[in-house]
Amino acid sequence: MGELFDVSTETELCIIGAGLSGLALASAVRAQGREVTVLEARDRPGGRMLSQNGYDLGPSWIWPHNHRMLALLSRLGIDSFPQYATGRLVFEDARGMIRRDLEFATMSGALRVAGGLTSVSDALAEEIGDSLFLSRPVESVAEDATGVTVSTAGQTIRSARVVLALPPRLATRLGISVPEVPTWMAGQTKLVATYATPFWRDQGLNGDAISHCGPLAEIHDASPDGASVGALFGFAYPGAGRLPEFRDAAVDQLVRLFGPRAATPDEVIFKDWSMDLNTAVAADQTPSGGHHMYRAVPSTDRLIFAGTEAAPDNGGFLEGALAAAGAAHLSLDTVAA
Ligand SMILES: Cc1cc2nc3c(=O)[nH]c(=O)nc-3n(C[C@H](O)[C@H](O)[C@H](O)COP(=O)(O)OP(=O)(O)OC[C@H]3O[C@@H](n4cnc5c(N)ncnc54)[C@H](O)[C@@H]3O)c2cc1C
Repeated sequence: MGELFDVSTETELCIIGAGLSGLALASAVRAQGREVTVLEARDRPGGRMLSQNGYDLGPSWIWPHNHRMLALLSRLGIDSFPQYATGRLVFEDARGMIRRDLEFATMSGALRVAGGLTSVSDALAEEIGDSLFLSRPVESVAEDATGVTVSTAGQTIRSARVVLALPPRLATRLGISVPEVPTWMAGQTKLVATYATPFWRDQGLNGDAISHCGPLAEIHDASPDGASVGALFGFAYPGAGRLPEFRDAAVDQLVRLFGPRAATPDEVIFKDWSMDLNTAVAADQTPSGGHHMYRAVPSTDRLIFAGTEAAPDNGGFLEGALAAAGAAHLSLDTVAA
């Protein structure tokens, strides 16, 4: 990876954001032998893709129709495995009544990535090598008739073209006028509890739960492939992760839903994405109200939007991040031709 003082002050192409979209685009551009500079605010690549000890605190699922993601995994030599889906779901209604007789798995057919999705971002970052500059938050972007000026950490970079591979809500902070587009999952808290074994499977449960009593709204099996250990993960409503009682309330809920063996997790980790300024803005602390109808965000010849929220298809998802990278690559080639 590039060192702080190595950022060239003039570049052909500058990509802002080293999430899946920015990384995939940079890798494709480098494969053509072209120059690129990638500026990433965080001290790690991957953006919303984040695994800790192999457990995903950001995205975890890929679906069989995600042909770009499956092709990427295959190219990188990274294995996937099916989401565990054998057995019954647990349902808790708003009065706390619990049913365990529902033969249904909400994510049946979905795939997970062995070792977590950070393996994908790490492999792409490796391909990009010294084009990637971490801990380089971009503060402003200004387009003029001959190029684009990018300001980051006291340095000014002049680039012929800039790709904004980040949520449009974050691009507005850089002084760019962007249509209002919600950032998918930016308000979520995701919690993972790990156990010595996936004990719920012994009771014929598949690890899925839907609960109207909270703090976790939906829960799934997050055990690694082969289930050498057990893990459950849950999504909580925006802001839940900020409450001091969140961890204990989540474990109490797992006990209600899956029984007393859930009381003693080996580890509980969680991430409240709504508090992460490299993903979320204040508006992300209120529920998004379902999946937005994402579409391409208008670009100019010099300033091009990528990032899953600007995807031509599968917007919001990992597949959309790759779709947006592909569309940005096409428009770079078209303008260059
Ligand atoms: C909890 C959670 C669960 C999810 N589950 C799934 C799932 O199961 N399946 C699925 O397909 N999708 C899922 N998603 C969505 C998925 O994570 C996204 O579609 C994908 O990661 C978006 O990639 P991206 O590159 O477009 O954006 P990001 O990953 O957000 O990348 C943007 C990058 O820009 C950087 N950045 C921001 N501001 C600046 C700045 N000023 N200067 C420089 N860099 C900056 C950020 O640090 C980040 O690295 C989930 C998301 C979350 C949060």
